[in-house]
Amino acid sequence: MDSRTIGGGQLGRMLVEAANRLNIKTIILDAPFSPAKQINSLQHIDGSFSDPSAIKTLSSKCHILTTEIEHVDTQILGEIEKEGKVEVHPSSETIKIIQDKFTQKEHLTSKGLPTTQSIPVQRSRHEILTAGEQLGYPCMLKSRTLSYDGRGNFVVSSAESVTEIIKTLPDQPLYVEKWAEFEKELAVVVIRTTQGNIISYPTVETIHQSNICHLVYAPARVMESVQAKARIIAEKAISTFNGAGVFGVEMFLMKSGDILINEIAPRPHNSGHYTIEACNTSQYEAHIRAITGLPLPKLCTAMKTTSIMLNILGGETPDEHHQICRKALETPGATVHLYGKLESRKSRKMGHVTIVGSSMSECDYRLANILTSNADSMT
Ligand code: ATP
Ligand code: MG
Ligand code: MG
Repeated sequence: MDSRTIGGGQLGRMLVEAANRLNIKTIILDAPFSPAKQINSLQHIDGSFSDPSAIKTLSSKCHILTTEIEHVDTQILGEIEKEGKVEVHPSSETIKIIQDKFTQKEHLTSKGLPTTQSIPVQRSRHEILTAGEQLGYPCMLKSRTLSYDGRGNFVVSSAESVTEIIKTLPDQPLYVEKWAEFEKELAVVVIRTTQGNIISYPTVETIHQSNICHLVYAPARVMESVQAKARIIAEKAISTFNGAGVFGVEMFLMKSGDILINEIAPRPHNSGHYTIEACNTSQYEAHIRAITGLPLPKLCTAMKTTSIMLNILGGETPDEHHQICRKALETPGATVHLYGKLESRKSRKMGHVTIVGSSMSECDYRLANILTSNADSMT
């Protein structure tokens, strides 16, 4: 069986790891030597996942096309679907809706799903101020497209701050989002099979630092009724989209107890890295099985153990992040994943650690050991 992946970052790499075990061949389209290309020796394609001709070349070599990133050219994916020779998962229509965060919000609202109130705006002081008046301050000005790790998000603290913010805005369509006064951030990875069956993983809790996911607690440290509610919302949301694969659903648990969808990713998700060590079947294998029509028993998403996932970010020097990896290697129950990125940059995701333990307090204890700097541990 052959499948092909657009995008060769860490998610693509973990998809290839899962596919390799099932003898499913994968060809990657991305820059030379990108993380996913390093772990098999097939005829990968060097190019951009937003370049239609590169995507077309990729499609000529495979039976199934999938993606590890939503920022892809969906028009060419639609044309490939119409030709009918290659399956595209999830569908180009699904990726198109999701890749524009405002369109995604309109879609969710039209299906009766709870999400943050949002208003599209031009890059105009007047329009941003009008939206700010309606939604209140602070509010979040967001790029509709091409955002990740919060790079397209701008906190608008007051009407006065708009003049300065406008100078720094990217040349992309924008919208303003009501500020979410959340208690916690939750996430659920949901599988959609080729038959449209929906299976969800347990609800996890994500902790962000400077807009980047820092820790994932699995399961989320909230009441079971809240975990169940988040899963129901996430499953309902994914049932409104076409195509197979796994999806990440990011949510805000509000102080009121309401749950709002923040955003959806049409691909494996950072909050689901923990599934490799802690669930019966990882989100990566689930994605491969879903798009190739292989069996996915209901209990494939069941959690075998409590866990905490820690993202490893690049530091000030090229190998600063190795220190934390060494600490993790010294810690029982911790598994280190390094992504093979050719260059470390500050705040770039270089790897992650999943810590398992017989209880969350044991995981927390192990995490504290990893986060203690060498200097601290010597005193
Ligand atoms: P990624 O795709 O890497 O998750 P992104 O660039 O799409 O990130 P968002 O998910 O929109 O960014 O936002 C990143 C983080 O910023 C959220 O996880 C949350 O912590 C905070 N945030 C986003 N929107 C709001 C909001 N409306 N109110 C309060 N905080 C917010
Ligand atoms: Mg996003
Ligand atoms: Mg996000």
